[in-house]
Amino acid sequence: MPENVTVIGLGPMGQAMAAAYLDRGYEVTLWNRTAARADSLVARGARLAGSVERALRANELVVLSLTDYDAVYAILEQAPQALPGRTVANLTSDTPTKAREAAVWLAERGAVQITGGVQSPPPGIGSADAATYYSGPADAVARHRAALEVLTGIEYLGEDPGLAALYYQIGMDMFWTGLVGYLHGQAVATANGISAEEFLEHAVKSMDFKYFLEFYAPRIDAGSHEGDADNLRMAVASLTHVLHTVEDSGVDASVPTAVLDLFRRGVATGRERDSMTSLLEVLTR
Ligand code: NDP
Repeated sequence: MPENVTVIGLGPMGQAMAAAYLDRGYEVTLWNRTAARADSLVARGARLAGSVERALRANELVVLSLTDYDAVYAILEQAPQALPGRTVANLTSDTPTKAREAAVWLAERGAVQITGGVQSPPPGIGSADAATYYSGPADAVARHRAALEVLTGIEYLGEDPGLAALYYQIGMDMFWTGLVGYLHGQAVATANGISAEEFLEHAVKSMDFKYFLEFYAPRIDAGSHEGDADNLRMAVASLTHVLHTVEDSGVDASVPTAVLDLFRRGVATGRERDSMTSLLEVLTR
């Protein structure tokens, strides 16, 4: 494959992607709604297309890195006539449904979508240690593997264009709620005069869920919520202690209150002697 690529979208992520291609000697064509965001990349040898149409026509592989799929349509609808024959690596975050709809929309206009969910912040782009979920036509991923691997490693999930978005959003569900858990705990630490640096090693240990995930996953798949290692009654008692500590510290208690409410709903449905994994049955009703 020729080593050339179009990158559309120059937020922090798109800029890191274009820079990674330049680092590897690719010919890079850029387009961004705010043209000035291309300046530093143009200074390094990238070409700024004067229109969406020119950006699309410049290369077969088009990498999109935009805020959401509304932005994708706002841009591609400017030049649908230039879409036939393009492979669009759409690394824009949005829902699985929107990813599937966009794959159909592009196919109707003669283009192929590879959906991507990037699992790295911009500084990780260009490193094989970072990874991106991909889904969509396997032949398109195989054909552009080398170019996609310039950005990150590839975790290919299958032909369904929604899968990469689904895995990505599940990861973000865990990431955001987990990170709020960290911030909330640190708020209690800070309120008690313990700095983030001081608590760091303890936070890292507290946030290491590997043992628990590996213990629970096979049980979840087996439908076994046996309360031999933990149970919801114990969880309610434990979280009540947390809640009182939070309140005594003068910290906003909305997060543990919401979690306690969930635990209590589990108890109210007769699961007090079952593992907290039985909450899955409350959550998925
Ligand atoms: P930004 O939201 O900063 O990207 C904005 C890009 O989208 C800019 O190029 C912006 O153009 C363009 N854009 C937004 N709305 C429109 C519109 N209506 N019409 C035309 N262009 C539009 O995001 P990032 O660069 O941070 O990330 C890009 C994607 O990667 C997102 O989907 C994000 O969720 C995902 N991602 C980001 C990570 C991160 O850490 N940053 C990590 C993993 C994934 P303009 O410059 O003109 O405003």
